Amino acid sequence: MSGSRPGGEAARRSIARHAGEFVVLRRDLHQHPELAFAEERTSRIVASLLESWGYEVTRGLGGTGVVGTLRRGNGPRALGLRADMDALPIAEETGLPHASRTAGAMHACGHDGHTAILLAAARYLAVEGGFSGTLHLIFQPAEEIGQGARRLIADGLFDRFPCDAVFGLHNWPGVSAGRFGFVAGPAMASVDWARIRVAGRGGHGAEPHSAVDPVVAAAHIVTGLQTIVSRNAAPLDLAIVTVGSIHGGSAANVIPDRVDLTLTTRAFRPEIRQLLEKRVKTVATLQAESFGALADIEWKEGFPSVVNHRRETDLARSVALDLFGEAGVEPDFAPRTASEDFAFLLQERPGSYFFVGNGDSAPLHSPRYDFNDALIEPAATYWAALAETFLVSPETPHG
Ligand SMILES: [Zn+2]
Ligand SMILES: [Zn+2]
Repeated sequence: MSGSRPGGEAARRSIARHAGEFVVLRRDLHQHPELAFAEERTSRIVASLLESWGYEVTRGLGGTGVVGTLRRGNGPRALGLRADMDALPIAEETGLPHASRTAGAMHACGHDGHTAILLAAARYLAVEGGFSGTLHLIFQPAEEIGQGARRLIADGLFDRFPCDAVFGLHNWPGVSAGRFGFVAGPAMASVDWARIRVAGRGGHGAEPHSAVDPVVAAAHIVTGLQTIVSRNAAPLDLAIVTVGSIHGGSAANVIPDRVDLTLTTRAFRPEIRQLLEKRVKTVATLQAESFGALADIEWKEGFPSVVNHRRETDLARSVALDLFGEAGVEPDFAPRTASEDFAFLLQERPGSYFFVGNGDSAPLHSPRYDFNDALIEPAATYWAALAETFLVSPETPHG
């Protein structure tokens, strides 16, 4: 049926019929969380399901990653859809029947759900999907430590599995369940980390004049760092400097030798990311010096911001609007200040990273969080429709 978008109805009916199986699978993954680069069981399950549906499966990419490839017809385009598989080192407190059975590990970010969603779409696309071209389903390890995407790329992800575009999704607590959010341009922030050791000279609390007090120097550093956002970054640019820990001293009447600070910085624009690094180093160094102390700064580079490509984001949004109407898409969805290593994939290929509401759940990374199983059906239907739209060719039978 020319003119109308393919996929929608057939995918919707088929995925709805099978959604229950993938809820069961999601809960099984939830009960057996595996931390970054240890997703052995998860990737075995993913690989064997993909194989059972006829995918050509590559195991062990980037450590524990899996890519399932399906070629159909002679469509020239190739599409990459990505799900992350890893859990977090958090002790679960949900008390749910399907709670984690592994002490100290938990799917607190919904990657169990992302994996189940992509598998539900994978089944449909292999069994009934109407597309022509090449589909690469990318199951990524180690998103939570920001290294999985990098490892996949280093292992030749896009050389071995060339993609014309790549898409990924994340569930989002606080947004109505199953509603989609799209952002063109910067969608998630860059992240970097620093450890600052402020070294002074300890002494008796009653004789501060003969010591160099690193506590006072550290306090001024923390205060001084706040001026980077308020005085150096332009008011309309995202800039975040958060000092998350400060440790020093052991008694009220003893001036310690040193104080340790750790902090993180976030930004949307690379220029602001660089500015934050430069100013954190300058402020910490010179503030410490002004008190006769020394700041030793260890900068740990995280990853860049997720910058969505406009054309792919417009396509992604239009597929959601066709499937679910205006009610299914958040108007003017705002970028998020959290971070995501999908950023590296978008530096290699055009694409878009979008969000699906998880409803009124505990926040991500909370020990009380749980992925909302009601998302599996609409999100898998969405993946199927996106694939059938992107990989459409004149000879593709549909409708
Ligand atoms: Zn997370
Ligand atoms: Zn996550």
